[in-house]
Amino acid sequence: MAKRAPTPCRYPGCAEVLATPGYCDRHRVAVHRDYGRARRGFDTELGFYKSGQWRAVRAAFLRQHPVCSVCAAFGRVVAAVVVDHVVPVKDGGARFDAANLQALCVTCHNRKTAQETARKR
Ligand SMILES: [Zn+2]
Ligand SMILES: [Zn+2]
Repeated sequence: MAKRAPTPCRYPGCAEVLATPGYCDRHRVAVHRDYGRARRGFDTELGFYKSGQWRAVRAAFLRQHPVCSVCAAFGRVVAAVVVDHVVPVKDGGARFDAANLQALCVTCHNRKTAQETARKR
């Protein structure tokens, strides 16, 4: 049996040398914990958007606000298809409060999502 060459921990900047490729004990735990946290947040959010209550609120809001509110501010009349949370749910925004909702067209919603993503990185 060939003896395995020691490899460094895969965690960036870690100086730990291991007998088998991967993470050292400390970083194996950290990496798994981060992964679990991201996953849980994602599932909670997804479950909310699939919920019957959200679908009902969303449908009612679109009936009352059939036009994209961002486009309307620029004098354009574009059919709204997305009900967006002004303060995102994952940042603690109110889920069913009309004051935290806005009707958007796909273009405006994609732009807002891209801006939010860019701000976080
Ligand atoms: Zn390490
Ligand atoms: Zn728009």
